[in-house]
Amino acid sequence: NYGAAAAAEKELENPLKPPVEIKYTKLLINGEFVDSKSGKTFATHDPRTEEVIAHLSEGDAVDIDIAVKAARKAFDEGPWPRMPAYERVNILNRFADLLEKHSEELAALDAWDSGKPYEQALYGEMPGVVRNFKYFAGWADKIHGRTIPTDSGHFAYTLHEPVGVCGQIIPWNFPMVMFAWKVAPALACGNTVVLKTAEQTPLSALRAGALALEAGIPPGVLNIVSGYGETAGAALTHHMDVDKVAFTGSTEVGKKILQAAGKSNLKKVTLELGGKSPFIVCEGADVDKAVELSHFALFFNQGECCCAGSRTFVHEKVYDEFVEKAKERAVKRVVGDPFKSGVEQGPQVDKEQFNKILGYIKSGQEQGARLLTGGSRLGSKGYYIQPTVFADVQDHHQIFNEEIFGPVQSVTKFSGIDEVIKRANRTQFGLAAGIFSNDVNEINTISRGLRAGTVWVNTYNIYDTSLPFGGYKQSGLGREKGIYALENYTEVKTVVMPMINPAWHPLSSSRGR
Ligand code: NAD
Repeated sequence: NYGAAAAAEKELENPLKPPVEIKYTKLLINGEFVDSKSGKTFATHDPRTEEVIAHLSEGDAVDIDIAVKAARKAFDEGPWPRMPAYERVNILNRFADLLEKHSEELAALDAWDSGKPYEQALYGEMPGVVRNFKYFAGWADKIHGRTIPTDSGHFAYTLHEPVGVCGQIIPWNFPMVMFAWKVAPALACGNTVVLKTAEQTPLSALRAGALALEAGIPPGVLNIVSGYGETAGAALTHHMDVDKVAFTGSTEVGKKILQAAGKSNLKKVTLELGGKSPFIVCEGADVDKAVELSHFALFFNQGECCCAGSRTFVHEKVYDEFVEKAKERAVKRVVGDPFKSGVEQGPQVDKEQFNKILGYIKSGQEQGARLLTGGSRLGSKGYYIQPTVFADVQDHHQIFNEEIFGPVQSVTKFSGIDEVIKRANRTQFGLAAGIFSNDVNEINTISRGLRAGTVWVNTYNIYDTSLPFGGYKQSGLGREKGIYALENYTEVKTVVMPMINPAWHPLSSSRGR
């Protein structure tokens, strides 16, 4: 019996009307919304009903080439990299204000396209999107190089210049958040952008693109091409006139992107890839709090989160109590129409993800993990999946090693700190990790021992704009957000010139050479 979820199942038959109108379905190239050259379109679907939401222009290699040419021209000849930096500050702040003003519309487009709860998108994601643009607007006029003393007596300094044309490829799980993480630092540093959105969720970025024009971002500076990965996405990564690619998505595609960069012009690459993050509940933990946090760590955004705490390690002393309570919490999870207030979990993004997740659940059962709750679809249409919890999961189980990207929690038992560090690190991934403990020595030992880009202690899913984010091992290359993101979007130029009769200076190791 699914309690709240069972009640929701009935309601799923009558989906609510999304509070938004779709205004933009064409490609944004050189400041105008245009059809794709081929005239082809593709459909984006409502994951609640499996029905078509809208048909959009489908960009391919030809459209990518046109967009790259526009971005190139805007970079080589246009005002964006040349204007006084404080003007870019003003324009990006205006853009942030417009995104804030249109938060409800953008959140509704993301909820409709991806299935995420509208309230989560509106209150949990859009404020961060706005903040991201304001934060990087704040950096735009504070990017500068250094004056460097030389042995040779030369006067030398560095300039931090924009990289050029940036190709950016984003996934479907956080469309507006990914838009902000990618576009804001690139534009703040004076670059121009060609953005390829995910084919499952193309709507919100186009609306935001229209707001960028309204804010005064010049034509060609931000181009947005909707379309598929193998066509539009691949063309962007192979393009000889793209100076940098930033990608978020699967590790498999990340490897292809690195190869494409190597085969073409050795463009700079940053990658945010998959994860299989451990969440470690220690011996003295308050079990109720640990259950709630581990539940949030895994089930947030339907489990479609690269940071999902998808391997829950629980100390043997609290294991039995934890497992029982983790099940109770999952049973209580409110699954339903993303537009209904109070809903915690909507449908998965599309049929492919839905089937993949159900496949993993089957493999968990076949390999002998103990299914405590959930395990099947919810309702008869749409991509809803019951919140699912497995206990007694073993290290060799497929569900413990591969990224499920769905509402499936896998709980395992451990006995000691050395053991849990070793087992937590036994993965190809290294994106994030969670520790739940009150013992500072335990926290220090585990947080130093884990090979992961972010370690959350007694908290999870904290994504302040100022904090660097990225992965160890096969979870990525480079760091986004915060001051670290500026390095991805700037080149360092060293300028050296001779000095005639340089004055003696205590910092200079050479006198008058
Ligand atoms: P994906 O990696 O295929 O897609 C992400 C983006 O890359 C999309 O915009 C897609 O069009 C584009 N793309 C696909 N193939 C490309 C190519 N050859 N060249 C250039 N761009 C390409 O991810 P997916 O198929 O949507 O999801 C598959 C799995 O990836 C998920 O189940 C999940 O495990 C993982 N994933 C991770 C993240 C993350 O945030 N790290 C996000 C989405 C998916």
